[in-house]
Amino acid sequence: MSKIVYADNAATTQVSDRVLQKMLPWFSSHYGNPSSIYGIGREGRAALEEARGQVAQALHCDPSEVYFTACGTESDNWAIKGMAKTLAAKGKRHIITTAIEHHAVLHTCKALEKEGFSVTYLPVDQYGLVTPEQVEEAITPETALVTIMFANNEIGTIEPVARIGEVCRRKGVPFHTDAVQAVGHVPVDVQEMNIDLLSLSAHKFHGPKGVGALYIRRGIPFPATLMEGGGQERGRRAGTENVAGIVGLGEALTEALEDLPEKTARVTAMRDRLIRELTKLPKVRLNGHPSLRLPGNCNLSFEGVEGESLLLLLDARDICASSGSACTSGSLDPSHVLLAIGLPHEVAHGSLRLSIGDMTTDSDIDRIIEAVPQVVERLRAMSPVWEKIKDN
Ligand code: PLP
Repeated sequence: MSKIVYADNAATTQVSDRVLQKMLPWFSSHYGNPSSIYGIGREGRAALEEARGQVAQALHCDPSEVYFTACGTESDNWAIKGMAKTLAAKGKRHIITTAIEHHAVLHTCKALEKEGFSVTYLPVDQYGLVTPEQVEEAITPETALVTIMFANNEIGTIEPVARIGEVCRRKGVPFHTDAVQAVGHVPVDVQEMNIDLLSLSAHKFHGPKGVGALYIRRGIPFPATLMEGGGQERGRRAGTENVAGIVGLGEALTEALEDLPEKTARVTAMRDRLIRELTKLPKVRLNGHPSLRLPGNCNLSFEGVEGESLLLLLDARDICASSGSACTSGSLDPSHVLLAIGLPHEVAHGSLRLSIGDMTTDSDIDRIIEAVPQVVERLRAMSPVWEKIKDN
C-alpha cells in the first residue's frame, strides 16, 4: 500500500515526535498526582505550570488566566454557558453568534434558547465573513455575550476578530472566540484583539486528543466553577488533571509557533497550488475567502458530484479528506456553513475539504492534483444530471 496522503488536518493532526517524547514519561515513571505533596506529585504540578506558561506565552496573557479542559467542545460550553448564566442574574439573556459556528457553539446556544435565552445568529456574506458593524448593530442592553469563531473549520475563513473585539470592549459586552482552528496556525493575541474568553484544542496543532484550554480574562464576571470536586484548576474545573495530555498541549503549541511565518508561507504556497490546479476543472468553485483564510484550508464544490462518493474514491487511493455534508451527524443534510454562504443544496453536496499542514509534502500535493480530477471525471460520467449541468 502506498503511503497515505493525509489532507484532513482540520479534523485532527498527527502528534509530532517532539510532543510524543515529551509526553511519554508522564505515562510511566512520572505518575504522581499533581495534588500530592511528595516529590513525584510536585513534579506533575510543575509540569502543569510549565504547560500553562507555554499557553500563556502563545496567547499573550498571564498563566493565571489559562484553564485546562478536556477538549475544545468543553471550553466552548464552559465559556458560553458560564457567561450566559452569570449575566442572566443581571437580567442579560441575549447572546450574539454567527450562523457558521461549530456545533460546539451552535448546539450550546440552542440549549440556552430552550432555557429562555434569545440568540442572534448573524448571517455571513458569500465568503463566510461577518462584519464588526453587524455585531455592533445586534448588541442590546440585554446582551450577555458575543461568541464568534476566529476561523471557520470548513471553509477556513478568518473573521475580523480584533475589530469585533474592539466593538465588544467599547460596548462593555464580553467577547468569546472559538479559536480551535486558529491557535497554532495564525498569530493570536488576546490583548491586541480584545478577547475576553478563548477556546483552543491540542489535537488541531499536533498535540494529543482530549485536551484543550479556555482563556478567561482576569476581572471579567465569570462563575467560579465548571466542575465541583477536588478544587483543581484553582477551584474552577475540578478533576485530576490529564498531566501527559496537558504537557503535550503546551509543547505542541510552543512547537507550532516556532518559525510560524516560514511554515505559513510553505503551507500557503501548497494550498494555493491545490486551489490553482483544481479550479481548472469545469463547474468548480472555491468556498471561503480567497485570501482571508487559514493557510491549510482548501474547500471546493464540484457540481454534478456527490461529496461522499468523492471521499470514498479518494480513500481508495489512500487520500484522506472530508466533505461538506454532515456525515458525522448521520444526516444527509449539507453543511450549515455551505448553506449559510449561499450554496444551493446540490452544489453544497459536492464539496470537498482538503486541509493540509506543515507535515504535508509537495509530493502529497502532486498526488491530490492527479487523483481529484480523475475521480471527479469518473463520478460525473456516472451522474444522471451532469450532462444538463455541463451545458448551461
Ligand atoms: N470548534 C471548532 C471550530 C472545531 O473545528 C472543533 C473541532 O473540530 C471544535 C470546536 C471542537 O474541538 P474538540 O474536538 O477538541 O472538542
